[in-house]
Amino acid sequence: MKKIQNYINGQFLSALSKNYKNNSSPITGKIYSKFPDSDHEDIDKAVMAAKKAFPKWKSLGKKGRYNLLMSLADMLDENFDKFVEAESYDNGKPEWIARSVDIPRVSENFRFFATASLHFSSECHEMDGKAFNYTIREPIGVAGCISPWNLPIYLLTWKIAPALAAGNTVVAKPSEITPMTAYLFSKIVHKSNIPKGVINIVHGLGEKAGEALTKHPDVPVISFTGGSNTGKKININCASLFKKLSLELGGKNPSIIFNDANFNEALNISLKSAFSNQGQICLCGSRIFVQSKIYNKFKTAFVEKTKKLTVGNPKNKVDLGAIVSKAHMNKIINYIQLAQDEGGTILTGGNRIRFEGDLREGYFIEPTVIENLDYKCIVNQEEIFGPVVTIMPFENEDDVIKMANATKYGLSASIFTSNVSKAHRMSSKINSGIIWINSWMMRDLRIPFGGMKDSGIGREGGFNSLRFFTETKNICVKI
Ligand code: NAD
Repeated sequence: MKKIQNYINGQFLSALSKNYKNNSSPITGKIYSKFPDSDHEDIDKAVMAAKKAFPKWKSLGKKGRYNLLMSLADMLDENFDKFVEAESYDNGKPEWIARSVDIPRVSENFRFFATASLHFSSECHEMDGKAFNYTIREPIGVAGCISPWNLPIYLLTWKIAPALAAGNTVVAKPSEITPMTAYLFSKIVHKSNIPKGVINIVHGLGEKAGEALTKHPDVPVISFTGGSNTGKKININCASLFKKLSLELGGKNPSIIFNDANFNEALNISLKSAFSNQGQICLCGSRIFVQSKIYNKFKTAFVEKTKKLTVGNPKNKVDLGAIVSKAHMNKIINYIQLAQDEGGTILTGGNRIRFEGDLREGYFIEPTVIENLDYKCIVNQEEIFGPVVTIMPFENEDDVIKMANATKYGLSASIFTSNVSKAHRMSSKINSGIIWINSWMMRDLRIPFGGMKDSGIGREGGFNSLRFFTETKNICVKI
């Protein structure tokens, strides 16, 4: 059985405890590899290596780091197909999604931030001939990067790339539920010319290895993407050590469809937003609000389209693959049951799917649409993070703003209307960090990306990431 290893100081190592945990594929439900069950000692070893490597990496300067990161990006592209297969098998997502969404972003993250670092500039404030202030932004040291399982290598490199481009060294802790592509990544780093100790990958459980990273006194900056409850714990751990912290957390995002929307466009995009990646994207629109005049027509068309979505072997061109783990599948099924207990009506879906043959023990769920739920009920308040959406009517703008804003989350929202003024009016009143008008998940890597309320703290993307991974220093010069 394949043994995933930690990558510390340019070496592939088991955990110091020699303990491993099982890793299974959600497609078959079978264990197919093991990963190191690392703890604070492994984290400490990795942090020491990263700390030692920091001065040299910093001194390479922007251009030196750019050259190495661009060449790493080329090497990642040469291994594109291996990443696609590994990500799909480990996570359960259809291969075509890994091929078109996840894996292209891996090398792109490095090219984007390596290039951005060359364009990154700072300010000068002149004081009417008396003095001028110039501001510099310096790398901080060892950056801790912790990522979730839904876009495993896409999000891990979304953190590692800006941290490195800004001149920091890294200790990364990938999700224990999908460790395989992070291991592949470390193998490519090993073959590259990136100096040893600059990138360290430590596998293991969140509450053990992850927590040790957030509590380590020599890691002054932590970038985390994951659930809001985990974010809360990390926030507490980092606060007493005054760490710089970025939190990208959960969402319960509304898709809002007005009478005057382009019907087919709103239908197709909200469907994609509901079920892409089995509904396991933080940005998925899981609460669909439709204005009353078109509610019945939209609901019927949405349910018809949902019924036509294909679920199956991720190797094939299916719409939905497997749910990431048995525990997560059961959590989703429990929410579907709760929805019925709360008075909801299942319009389509609602069940686990059992296939024959190799996929028999795989974790597949029918895409599910639920009606007749109050906007305040638990199912409309908590993040399900699966192929489950609720659909609700609304009368007017005030009505839908009240419902859309009624959760603890504030990550993203999609608004469908052909009235530009209404789109702007609504955008200013929706409490979300990201708003799409007549679209969903149109990603520009330069924009500030992140959420309000329990969806997080800070913004990633473009120069925001480079600012986050640097310390600001102002120097005042008297003239
Ligand atoms: P999770 O919070 O369970 O785990 C995320 C990572 O944190 C994993 O690597 C895990 O090992 C680690 N971790 C767990 N406990 C920890 C602790 N106490 N200290 C340090 N690290 C710890 O999240 P998940 O289930 O892997 O991912 C799903 C969640 O991520 C969803 O809520 C989703 O909305 C969110 N997410 C947010 C974004 C965003 O950009 N806002 C993007 C993707 C996913």
